[in-house]
Amino acid sequence: MLVVMRQDARPGDVQAVIEAIEAMGYEARPMPGRQRTTVGLVGNDGRVDGTRLAALGGVQELIHVTHPYKLVSREWKPEPTVVRLPGGLTIGAGEVQVIAGPCSVEGEGQILQAAHAVKDAGATLLRAGAFKPRSSPYSFQGLGVAGLTLLALARRETGLLIVTEAVDPEGVDAVAEVADIIQIGARNMQNYSLLRRAGRAGKPVLLKRGIAATIQELLLAAEYLLAEGNPDVILCERGIRSYDTQTRNLLDLSAIPTVHALSHLPIIADPSHGTGRRAMVPSMARAAIAAGADGLLVEVHPHPDQALSDGAQSLDTGQFEQMMHELRAIADAIGRRIAEPVGARA
Ligand code: PEP
Ligand code: MN
Repeated sequence: MLVVMRQDARPGDVQAVIEAIEAMGYEARPMPGRQRTTVGLVGNDGRVDGTRLAALGGVQELIHVTHPYKLVSREWKPEPTVVRLPGGLTIGAGEVQVIAGPCSVEGEGQILQAAHAVKDAGATLLRAGAFKPRSSPYSFQGLGVAGLTLLALARRETGLLIVTEAVDPEGVDAVAEVADIIQIGARNMQNYSLLRRAGRAGKPVLLKRGIAATIQELLLAAEYLLAEGNPDVILCERGIRSYDTQTRNLLDLSAIPTVHALSHLPIIADPSHGTGRRAMVPSMARAAIAAGADGLLVEVHPHPDQALSDGAQSLDTGQFEQMMHELRAIADAIGRRIAEPVGARA
């Protein structure tokens, strides 16, 4: 529930509301605004009887948040969240950010070659996993800490910001030292101890939709991050499991307008994991921009046939460059813009 204070409410009125909420056994989150202060009530499972709050001095109205998630909902915060990154990049402010790079960091030559190529083609962030959550324990699990060191090198050399995955709570700090955005993968979307730890890491988080997660479950997972005090969360539609084996997953583009309607958080699309097939990536990337995605996450490898993970869905650098041209045309057609790389960043 939200308690909206009147414009002329005094600090003492706000304090009285906070104390009343706490006395009712809930948590109060005051949110001072330009016009008026709103006090959020969290910790309730169902509808709260607000009679006592409505009667307090300075209270204008009570708004009941109808969804089980609260902090991520549009009711709670009508204006879109803009995630601000080093170098002035934003996600959620209208500009489309393209995050590109190999599935995994495989070595210095590979990651630097990929980083330079995606930057030259217009990506603004480099993605690559150092810790890989693989379906099979026998598959390549990533270079670990050595991979993080190589990502830091790629950041220094190209100025690209880094998106890389944390797979367990113990690994979050090491990832946060190098990453500009911490990725939580689909397999970990409901790993609540990891979410809580990432919510406290002081870096934006990219939360991928679980393999069989509903949009409500995705938003509830994001709620864990916001509840830990991290407002900088970017959601990612990466395809869900379906009965059809033609594609690896079913990229649910309707999740983009759905999330925008239900939540203030930005949402990007991952057509690589969403299709599992290189040939389909450009069409679904174009469609995602047209559907209003705040960005894209695309796997690109200098030699996809030699990739240690996800080669079949990775574009080569020429294909990525071609796709970027097409994306600019689509963005233009709907009055949007693909962000440009701006050299070395702070
Ligand atoms: C990845 O981004 O390489 C990855 C493992 O993605 P997902 O968690 O969506 O499967
Ligand atoms: Mn991958």
